Amino acid sequence: MLSITSKLPAVGTTIFTTMSSLALEYNAVNLGQGFPDYPMSDRLISLVNEAMKKGYNQYTHMNGYLPLREAIAEKITGLYGLSVSPDREITVVPGGTYAIYTSLTAVLHPGDEVIVFQPCYDSYIPNIVANGAIPVQVPLQYPDYTINWQAVRQSITPRTKMIMLNSPNNPTGSVLREADIAALREIVKDTNIFILSDEVYEHLMFDHTPHQSMLRYPDLYERSFVCFSFGKTYNCTGWKIGYCVAPAKASAEFRKVHQFNCFSTDTPKQVALATFLKEKDEYLHLGKAMQQKRDLFLKLMRASRFKMHPSAGSYFVLGSYGHFSSEPEKDIAIRITKESGVATIPVSAFYTDGTDNKVLRFCFCKKDETLEKAAERLCKV
Ligand code: PMP
Repeated sequence: MLSITSKLPAVGTTIFTTMSSLALEYNAVNLGQGFPDYPMSDRLISLVNEAMKKGYNQYTHMNGYLPLREAIAEKITGLYGLSVSPDREITVVPGGTYAIYTSLTAVLHPGDEVIVFQPCYDSYIPNIVANGAIPVQVPLQYPDYTINWQAVRQSITPRTKMIMLNSPNNPTGSVLREADIAALREIVKDTNIFILSDEVYEHLMFDHTPHQSMLRYPDLYERSFVCFSFGKTYNCTGWKIGYCVAPAKASAEFRKVHQFNCFSTDTPKQVALATFLKEKDEYLHLGKAMQQKRDLFLKLMRASRFKMHPSAGSYFVLGSYGHFSSEPEKDIAIRITKESGVATIPVSAFYTDGTDNKVLRFCFCKKDETLEKAAERLCKV
C-alpha cells in the first residue's frame, strides 16, 4: 500500500457531517446546516429548463457566459457604484467555496501568511494550508464578534500576503461597519497585502444596514478578490455556482488556476441566471424577507433559556447557554439533537483551537413552521 503524506493532517470528519447524520437518525428539526428548507424560484427553474431545451448544453466560455458577466457588472454598478469589466474582472465559477480556494491558490506561495478571523467558515484554514501558506488567526472579540484591529496590526509581518474577510459573517451574523473599513484602509495602505472578501451573504443584511462590500471602495477593490454565490442569493445552495470579482491582473492569475481545475461552469444555469439577474426585486427583497425570519425566531426564542445574540446579516444567529449549563458545546449540541430533537452547530467547530464560549449556531433560513417547531422544542431545553 502506497502511503500519502497528508497535506491536511488535521482535517477529519467535521461536526457538520456528524450533526446532519444525527439529525436524520433522531428525526430532529435541522437548524444545523445553512440551507433553506423552502423551494427556490419556479421561474428560475423554468429558465434553466428553457435554456437546456434551446440547446445550451455544451461548454461555455471559460470565464463564464458573457451575458451573465454583463448582468453581474450591471448589478455591481447599481449596488456599489463601481464599474467593472465583464471581460477582465468577473469570472463565473462552481460556487463561492471554489472562488475562495482559487483566489488563495492564485496568490499564495509556501510560507506566506494569511490573516484569518475566527470563528470562520470551515474551508478557509484547510484552503490556506493546502497551498503551503500559514493561517495567522485573529479571534473576533467575544461576545460581539467584532474585529480587533489593534490585534490585526500586531499580527502583520513582512510575510503577510492577505487578509480574509467575511461579511455578513458565518457563523456569527456580525457585519463590517464603516469604522472597520476605515481601519482596514489604514492598515493596508502602502502595503502589498491582498484582501479576500467572502461576500456570499451580500443581500442578507438586516435593519437597513448597508453592506460594506469591497466593491464600494476603489482603493480596497484594487487589492481584492471578492467572492459571491448564487446558491445563497437564490435559495439553491445545491447549485454550486458563484463568481469572483477582482481587478484585471488579479483575475488573470485567478483564471490561470481556474482554467486547469474546472475550465468552465454549468452552462444552462448561467444562461438562466443572465435573464433572472436583471429582475432586481428578486435580490433586493431578500434582506427584508430573511429579517422577518430572524425576527420570528428571536421572538419565539424569548421563551427559552438561551441568551440570543444579535444578528445583523446572514442565515445565522447565535445563542449562549453558559448561564444554565457548563457542558461543552459539542456535547450539548449532540444531547439537544437526541433528547429535544433540534440539530444546531457548536461554534467551537469554527475555531481551529476549539474555543468554547458555550454558544450554539442556529440557522433560521427555514419555513416559519420549521422555526416554530424548533423553537417550541428549544424552549424545553
Ligand atoms: N462562504 C461562506 C461564509 C459560506 O457560509 C458558504 C456556504 N456555506 C460559502 C462561502 C460557500 O458557498 P457555495 O455553496 O457557493 O460554495
